[in-house]
Amino acid sequence: MAEKRKIPFFDYPALFQEHAEEYMDLVRGIFERGAFILQKEVTEFETNLARYLGVKHAIGVGNCTDGLILALQAAGIRAGDEVILPSHTFVATASAIHHVGAKPVLADCGPDHLMDPESVLSMVTDKTRAIMPVQLNGRTCRMDALTEIAAKYNLIIVEDAAQSLGSSYKGRKAGTFGAAAALSFYPAKILGCFGDGGAVVTDDDKIAETIRLLRDHGRNKEGRVVLWGYNSRLDNLQAAVLSDRLQRHDEIIEKRRGVAALYQRHLSDIKEVVLPLGLDDDKDHFDVYQNFEIEAENRDGLRGYLGTEGVGTLIQWGGTPLHKMKDLGFTAMLPMTEKLFERCLMLPMYHSLSSGDVEYISERIRKFYG
Ligand SMILES: *Cc1c(COP(=O)(O)O)cnc(C)c1O
Repeated sequence: MAEKRKIPFFDYPALFQEHAEEYMDLVRGIFERGAFILQKEVTEFETNLARYLGVKHAIGVGNCTDGLILALQAAGIRAGDEVILPSHTFVATASAIHHVGAKPVLADCGPDHLMDPESVLSMVTDKTRAIMPVQLNGRTCRMDALTEIAAKYNLIIVEDAAQSLGSSYKGRKAGTFGAAAALSFYPAKILGCFGDGGAVVTDDDKIAETIRLLRDHGRNKEGRVVLWGYNSRLDNLQAAVLSDRLQRHDEIIEKRRGVAALYQRHLSDIKEVVLPLGLDDDKDHFDVYQNFEIEAENRDGLRGYLGTEGVGTLIQWGGTPLHKMKDLGFTAMLPMTEKLFERCLMLPMYHSLSSGDVEYISERIRKFYG
């Protein structure tokens, strides 16, 4: 068996090291110009991102959580409204709903780990105003079923696309299905920066204009305050880094898909694990593998063993889906999500992961199951 390795769940330093000089030049240029807040780098990144997704507007914000709050608020969601989201998501999706005064209503997941349209349908009441599909793990939800439900009940769609830049469903990119979508540039996200960052994307001129006001204290272009706003601006330095990385985004996606294909090759015959769908298993989906979330028998045993063998793994949301967060007042019973959280585990997945690393991880998993 190969010599012991140390493979972190995510390699944060590698993010910088692979293009260190280029980034240092960028940073130096911006520092020397004193261009810190809402300078040309933010505008340029917004243009680049909008072009990448084929949307009319991209607005840089402080992080995705803020982006979700601003998007919901700009789309008109308010106190008394119910908004349906999956239980298998980051608490941020729900807290955004809470902070605009609305009620988060949790739906179950399907075998693909994503929001299940049938469960969503069963949660619709006369108070439901919106659905928030979470494009989880770099995969897009079955958006035709969800948009059909939204059309039938006159619901607004606001996507949480934090994990999915570049992913698509039936040729249409995640982030382009609803009234607005929020993206995250947290370092470990598929397009990560060197700190916090986020964006809202939309085709709606009015929503875009409102978000531009909201993110900057309610000030319009002339500097006049026209509504109650927040401070949630994408940092200019991060915007420069993001434009640089966005140029290589499709290359990064291909590398991640390569890692996924290698995992498939090495692990698909192990009956104790269920892998995410393979690259070509479902032609409707183009997945970018933000995460490689498997289901595993004796998950905790496997996780412990991989840890002793130097392999970092993670259970999403610290192992607690939203419907189990009693302190937030949730009481829903969601059998699929419940079952999944006894089995789900994320293996290392990033574009700088080597094929030797994937082989090492796979070999250890094989050994664990004997
Ligand atoms: C990371 C993440 C967020 C929050 O993003 P931030 O930029 O850290 O605010 C929201 N939703 C999902 C699904 C995420 O994975």
